[in-house]
Amino acid sequence: MNASRQAQLLFTFICLLTIATVAAAKGEGTHNSTAAAPIDGGLHENIPPKYQKRYEEWKAEFLSTDIGKAQWDMYSKHPRLLLTITIGGKNSEGAGTGSYKWNDKGELVAATIVLGERLDSGYPSAVYYPVMNALEPFESRQLISGSVLAATKLAHEFGHVMKISSTSQELYQLQVKLVPNYNKIFLSNGYNVNDPRLVEMAEKMGGNPVQIWEDREYWGEANAMLYLKDRVDKEKYHCRLFAKIKRAVEEYAKDYEQRFAEIAKEQGAIYTCGWK
Ligand SMILES: [Zn+2]
Repeated sequence: MNASRQAQLLFTFICLLTIATVAAAKGEGTHNSTAAAPIDGGLHENIPPKYQKRYEEWKAEFLSTDIGKAQWDMYSKHPRLLLTITIGGKNSEGAGTGSYKWNDKGELVAATIVLGERLDSGYPSAVYYPVMNALEPFESRQLISGSVLAATKLAHEFGHVMKISSTSQELYQLQVKLVPNYNKIFLSNGYNVNDPRLVEMAEKMGGNPVQIWEDREYWGEANAMLYLKDRVDKEKYHCRLFAKIKRAVEEYAKDYEQRFAEIAKEQGAIYTCGWK
């Protein structure tokens, strides 16, 4: 695949993000960051030696696709954002992205992806993870390897980094502040989401805590799907896998169907596998 197609794939995802961010943003204000901002961007891999071998396998699988390469390149040459990737943490079969920092202009300058040491096993629920979950029967039939599963999880985390890069610091910090308050009221008011205090909070932070959380996770899944689309494009089971993702999205993520459909139909796709 050529450079223009790589750019196009990246563009598809960034366009989807931009549309959603513009729709969600309700006014941007001044941005202040108390954290010291790193001077240079780029990609920093901080992998303990005992995990180096498996990490290289997962990374090679991610980089075997054009979209993986394009995203990796974008972050390794990023002039401002320092993206750290490390392995460890309590969630051995999962991963997480955080430690966000912004500069005084409100631009994201640091983020960290923590990969579980057993990232190549374990499937999260289809309810919030329709893409990663869909891989399970394909791995048990040995059509895909654990490294593909790990690379799909890495792509999910890259989706979080891209989404947070296009979310204002102000909105993110407001969500961090208001979500615990929201939950406290919700638990004490008889689970009444129509409580005027909760309605007001949800309006301010762009949704209730569940909506905010699922929106974030489905951005991760959208990028996981973009990666997988490239990875299994020429495999016989391609449409079977995408049909499984489609069923889970229709059942659990109906409000977000368009986001996944855009990726399935991305220009230049050989098959849309029933996505309309
Ligand atoms: Zn996630």
